[in-house]
Amino acid sequence: MTTVTKAEGAPAPAGPDGFLSVRDLQVTFSTEDGPVKAVDGLSFDLHRGKTLGIVGESGSGKSVTNLTILGLHDPVYTTIDGEILLEGKELITATEKEMEKLRGNRMAMIFQDPLTALSPFYTIGRQIAEPYMKHTGASKRAAWERAVEMLAKVGIPNPKERARDYPHQFSGGMRQRAMIAMALVCDPDLLIADEPTTALDVTVQAQILDLLKDLQREFGTAIVFITHDLGVIADMADDIMVMYAGRAVERGTVDEVLSAPLHPYTWGLLNSMPRLDSDLGTPLSPIPGTPPSLLTPPTGCRFHPRCSFRDRVEGDRCVTERPLLGPDRSSACHLSTERKRTIFIEEIRPRLG
Ligand code: SF4
Repeated sequence: MTTVTKAEGAPAPAGPDGFLSVRDLQVTFSTEDGPVKAVDGLSFDLHRGKTLGIVGESGSGKSVTNLTILGLHDPVYTTIDGEILLEGKELITATEKEMEKLRGNRMAMIFQDPLTALSPFYTIGRQIAEPYMKHTGASKRAAWERAVEMLAKVGIPNPKERARDYPHQFSGGMRQRAMIAMALVCDPDLLIADEPTTALDVTVQAQILDLLKDLQREFGTAIVFITHDLGVIADMADDIMVMYAGRAVERGTVDEVLSAPLHPYTWGLLNSMPRLDSDLGTPLSPIPGTPPSLLTPPTGCRFHPRCSFRDRVEGDRCVTERPLLGPDRSSACHLSTERKRTIFIEEIRPRLG
């Protein structure tokens, strides 16, 4: 599972497994209006063959975290502090050349929109074969055969013929499969999937998720799965980290977080999800307010302007004091764990049905 050996806010040693260890990560962008801290003190471990689901609204820092892990941030306008260790190798201080090599061989990313990853000018087969040639030194012929093999693996019918097609000749679901083939062609140890199924219809989405799970079993890949959809997370992830305004606010196993969530923001996310068993026309219950600007983030708990439980915390701690995330199963909130459990059972769960 995803474990954390420390509270947020101070460096900690890599965990014993240490496949991917992120420690006190801080990512700050320089903007015309001033510095924006998009990620503020994030720590987690991801183990081989496991999936960590990162959930949160837009601007929560989930995509920035992952682009930073892959070294795809703009180095001129971005300041990064903390540690990102991939099997002990520090990525923050790695050179662009080293990162490029790692991105091909050991880390790969699947984007929401395959058209951002696939060039319209080259055949699908060529786009899968080229990174394989580059990173393994395989011949053109062997790389093409590997591309065809990967297209077959991701369920493209007639892969030999379809490898000669261009992206526009593929449907949306097939392009997504082709991008997965491209991402997995070099057997990466770490796959980052950023909303990979959001643009697809429900049936194709289910097929793609099943495909990712099958490929993970086959290759033992560790996956970071970013989404705003808790239903998808329930299906895909072993562990969940909920992010809000650049910070992790809750984490635990999927069962823990979805059956007994401990943070008011997670309660809000669950409450705002549409349910299959509700009557048509039942209004959704979105979290009131909007995520804050990170140029001038709220003091104390960043969720406090939207939190309907802050009056249950004594004094003005919610406004003045940053709640910390503890090790393992934890939520960053000043309410005691016992109090949160009681609120969830008595007030939140009945609303969730
Ligand atoms: Fe709400 Fe206060 Fe807990 Fe933040 S610390 S989630 S404002 S109760």
